[in-house]
Amino acid sequence: RSTAEIFGVPIDKVTLEKAFNNFKMFMTDDKLSIITTPNTEIVMMANKDKELLEVLKNSNMNIPDGIGLIYASKIHNLEIPERVTGVDFMRKILEYCNDINGSIFILGGKPGVAQKACENIKKRFKNIEIKGFEHGYFNSEEEQIIIEKINKANPDVLFVALGAPRQEKWIYKNRKRLNVKVAIGVGGSVDIWAG
Ligand code: UDP
Repeated sequence: RSTAEIFGVPIDKVTLEKAFNNFKMFMTDDKLSIITTPNTEIVMMANKDKELLEVLKNSNMNIPDGIGLIYASKIHNLEIPERVTGVDFMRKILEYCNDINGSIFILGGKPGVAQKACENIKKRFKNIEIKGFEHGYFNSEEEQIIIEKINKANPDVLFVALGAPRQEKWIYKNRKRLNVKVAIGVGGSVDIWAG
C-alpha cells in the first residue's frame, strides 16, 4: 500500500483502476475491509477530530475523492495520480458485483432513498443480489436491529451513506460486529442512484 500523508491523513496513491484492484483483493479476504472516500473538507476535519483521524488511519483504503487533494499533491509532489470519486468507484463496485453475482446492502439516506437506489441499481445491474436497505435516521436501539439485519443478510458490500464523517465513524465503531466483506462510506452517491 502506498499512501500520501495530507494533514496526517493517509490518502492512497491510486487511480480508479488501482483502487478497483485493491477492492477485488479485499473481496477475497475473510475479514472486513473499510474504504473511505475523503475530500479536502474531511481531511481538514480530521485535523481537528482525533476520532476521525483514527478512523482514517485504520481504514484499508482512503481514495482521493476531492480535487483539492490533487492540487495539494501537485504542489507538494505527493504523487497522487488522479481524483477517484466515490460516485465513480461505487459504479465500478456495482459493475463488479453484477459480473460475479455479488450482493449489496445500502444503509443511509432519507426514508425511501436507499430503497429507490436499490430498485434503480437492480434495473441497471440485473445480476446483483440486493440483500437489503435501511434509511439513515435511526436511534441506538434501532441500530442494533439494523446491524442484526445486515449480518443476517451477509452482503458482500455494505454501502453506508450517513454523511461524512458520521458514516466513517459508524463503520469503524461497528467494524467488529459487521459481517460483510467490504464496507464503504459513499455519502451522496446513494442519493444519485435514487435519482
Ligand atoms: N444522512 C443520513 N443520516 C444522517 C445524516 C445524513 O442518512 O443522520 C444521509 C443524507 O440523507 C444523505 C447522505 O447521508 O443522503 C449524505 O448527507 P450529507 O449531504 O449531509 O453529507 P455529505 O454528502 O456532505 O457527506
